[in-house]
Amino acid sequence: MKKTITTALLMLWILPCKAQNFIQKYQDRVNQLSKDNITANLKAFEKLGVKTTGSVENDSALQWIRKQYLSYGYTENQMMEDPFSIGRLKSKNLIITKKGTVHPDQYVIICGHFDSINGPGVNDNGSGTSVILEAARILKDVPTDYSIKFIHFSGEEQGLYGSRHYVNEVVYNKKQRNLDIKMVFNLDQVGGKKGMFNDTVFCDEDQDGSSKNNAASTKATHELMKCTALYSPLKAEIDPAEHSDYISFEKKGEVITGFFEYLRSELPHTKDDTFANTDVMYVYNIGKASLGALQYFAGASEK
Ligand SMILES: [Zn+2]
Repeated sequence: MKKTITTALLMLWILPCKAQNFIQKYQDRVNQLSKDNITANLKAFEKLGVKTTGSVENDSALQWIRKQYLSYGYTENQMMEDPFSIGRLKSKNLIITKKGTVHPDQYVIICGHFDSINGPGVNDNGSGTSVILEAARILKDVPTDYSIKFIHFSGEEQGLYGSRHYVNEVVYNKKQRNLDIKMVFNLDQVGGKKGMFNDTVFCDEDQDGSSKNNAASTKATHELMKCTALYSPLKAEIDPAEHSDYISFEKKGEVITGFFEYLRSELPHTKDDTFANTDVMYVYNIGKASLGALQYFAGASEK
């Protein structure tokens, strides 16, 4: 009996520590990230115009994201649209599900918004969108213990409308939780400040709102920092989670973390949030950290 308990405790100690060590296979997949693809994604995102929620451009952006997934080999069956409205404006979130092999009913969510205001939003949030797309491309045929949902939210800029709708109407039905979420990893405004040396990323920790999920967020955020150090050249700093889609999940008690640029560009929400003003190398490095962390959170195959 005692031995069993000791073994169990040892396992609990070893399991999380083991995965937080460097895993060559994770690095091999991180090496598959393509700076050219990220560049192409950011440029295509810019070309789609000002993606104000409810606009034609907003819907075109969603269709473009959908096409990217199809080109990676994801199927229509894996995609779900979540329509919502803000007054008379109509828009949709896009959710892509990849089933896990060990815990298929537990979900790791990686998410970012694709809507913009006043400008094309290449930093806010074409950067996060491009990174999520690259991660999805590379993990397409990689077995993961947990299921992954790649989610592209709309309505963020008007006040987290898309994510709130998804959480309240899809994840929860009144008080009933329909989806077992392991954790939420949000990417918002990770384009860097042009002309600056962008070598650091903020890892967003839940320090507010409901307090019962704070400790779990602290743990996830420290794991995110560790993965950043293991798989990217970036330095990591802690920042309070706020003003992005993870807050909709936080309010329901879910475990959240996320990335946000450390040197904050003042161009988001202006016409100058363009490709020319985005630091592609920084987005590429954010991609490395994100893919390393996503593999860790979702328990990607180590072989
Ligand atoms: Zn944003």
